[in-house]
Amino acid sequence: MSTDAKNAIAQMEKIVSLCKRRGFIFQSSEIYGGCGGVWDYGPLGAELKRNLRNVWWNTMTREREDVLGLDASILMNPAIWKASGHVDTFADLMRECSLTNKRVRADHVEPQDGVVMNYSGAKSPTGWKLARPISVLMKKGEHIESLRKRVRTLIASNAGEAAGKVEEIELLDEAKGDTLERTIDFHPETGGALGDARPFNLMLKTYLGPTATEADVTYLRPETAQAIFAQFKNVYDSSRMKVPFGIGQIGKAFRNEVTPKNFTFRSREFEQMELEFFIKPDEAVEIISGKVDTWSEGADLSEPKPNWGWQMWHRYWVDQRTKFYEGIGLGDVLEYYWQTPEDLAHYARACVDILCEFPFGTEELEGIAARGDFDLSAHQTASTKSQEIFDEELKTAAAKLTAEQKDALRARKQEEGRNTVKKKAEKERREPTADDFAAMEKSMNYFCDRLFAGNYVPHVIEPSAGLDRMALAVIAKAFSETEKVDEKGKKEIITVLRLHPRVAPIKVGVFPLLKNKPELVAKAREVYALLKKHMNCFYDETASIGRRYARQDEAGTPFGVTIDFETCGEKGPELADTVTLRHRDSGEQERVKITDLLGKLLPLVS
Ligand code: ATP
Repeated sequence: MSTDAKNAIAQMEKIVSLCKRRGFIFQSSEIYGGCGGVWDYGPLGAELKRNLRNVWWNTMTREREDVLGLDASILMNPAIWKASGHVDTFADLMRECSLTNKRVRADHVEPQDGVVMNYSGAKSPTGWKLARPISVLMKKGEHIESLRKRVRTLIASNAGEAAGKVEEIELLDEAKGDTLERTIDFHPETGGALGDARPFNLMLKTYLGPTATEADVTYLRPETAQAIFAQFKNVYDSSRMKVPFGIGQIGKAFRNEVTPKNFTFRSREFEQMELEFFIKPDEAVEIISGKVDTWSEGADLSEPKPNWGWQMWHRYWVDQRTKFYEGIGLGDVLEYYWQTPEDLAHYARACVDILCEFPFGTEELEGIAARGDFDLSAHQTASTKSQEIFDEELKTAAAKLTAEQKDALRARKQEEGRNTVKKKAEKERREPTADDFAAMEKSMNYFCDRLFAGNYVPHVIEPSAGLDRMALAVIAKAFSETEKVDEKGKKEIITVLRLHPRVAPIKVGVFPLLKNKPELVAKAREVYALLKKHMNCFYDETASIGRRYARQDEAGTPFGVTIDFETCGEKGPELADTVTLRHRDSGEQERVKITDLLGKLLPLVS
């Protein structure tokens, strides 16, 4: 293992241990040995998550005039997941271990070296038999006896009680096979030969209602976005918004991830924060504004304009989301991956992944996709309920087009349609058929007819972020260690969590200098009562003041307020009712009047 990899593991271990020690994140069901890929947020974690949620909600909905919120259910009619494509295609390619049936993601098998050992089967004195051949990789450096023991143990745990005692299982007709280098055909943990790659759907199934037949199957939502599409018309009709506008939602999502890993980064239950921002198709913008503004380097993205096409809107949201991350202290650890045409889904026009530096590598934090009208159109077809909106301005502008202008637009759409058919067929590795072209021609003509009458299915830009990944990203970014010499001259490593004040779970620690001085305690409780109505504070009177600062540094608290004898007026009237305000990151300490505290702190933490 490389030094970098070892350091990354060590860093993650420290972060996981801090999260448990200070009550940020616990393993779910820990007293029962845990529950794979599921995590619980402790008192500090719950506050941190709530702050992140609030920053997202405020920035994305409340502070904007063009985005509304939604809070939809986790369980929905399974027809939604059929229409969205999740039932048929939301799958990872998996390979199964022939020894244990344990699955592994096909693209997660690291190459291994070793010798193949073959057995015709196994039996035990209980009469139990395994009547099929098995092949296992004896890894380079592994002793044959330890391989046999491993195989017996795996067989026994798969067979259950019937196989009897592990040590009494007999492996039959052992034969040495090929020596392999960099093989990816054996399970990385068990060493058992892997079967062919097969798709494995990531949706978690459940049954709705008292009977548990196939007709009652539904799914825990694997993303929050589909509810936004399914409720698009209700929100549109009830809010009197005009396109362009967006609908944002925060909520739980579930994916039966095959290999949940890297702490909360890849979980089976997690929270998403998604925005579907609905825009006019470029053709509608062109008819209304005469020309569509497309993106070029240096384009002004500060304020949306009526002539923006999808490209500008996509770039705008990448810019907005970048500003969001800057506002929570992640600005300098972001990278962008623009998906190539080969990466893109056939309906997507562009997609950028916002990546973040984690100890285990630079990984996706958020995806921002321009998805055309794929989602609303899919629901329109499947539900047979129109998802079109009527745009008076478009109708008026279209009425002024000449017949030639309309024909030219139609011809352009037909050409685009033919190219889409070819591209889709190419992705599916087949020849496009005459029927494909005929269907596309019909659909393009329909689109133009409806457009000229002022109707269209809105297109969408989708910034989709994960709350748990964001929480982990801010913790990982904030984690730092410094060496300190304590009061007795002993060196110790102090952990300081340099969380941005906006997301820090506790904003201010309030400390009376001494706990046995009633006047200090009374004043400190007064300050605590004043602040806690406006922000999450922590009152602490135990241990030395240095220890108390250190405890709050480790919890990520950005400010500390100490109430001392000066506060009580013992060193003259000019310092009476002032406190020491300590800034975690700069170490600066300043004297502030109690009456000025709130005004000073509020802008820093919100
Ligand atoms: P990945 O490629 O990492 O599996 P994805 O591209 O499938 O992610 P999306 O479907 O685009 O992810 O989901 C949007 C966001 O939801 C992701 O950027 C991520 O922040 C979050 N997310 C997705 N899957 C998980 C998961 N298993 N655990 C935690 N967060 C997740």
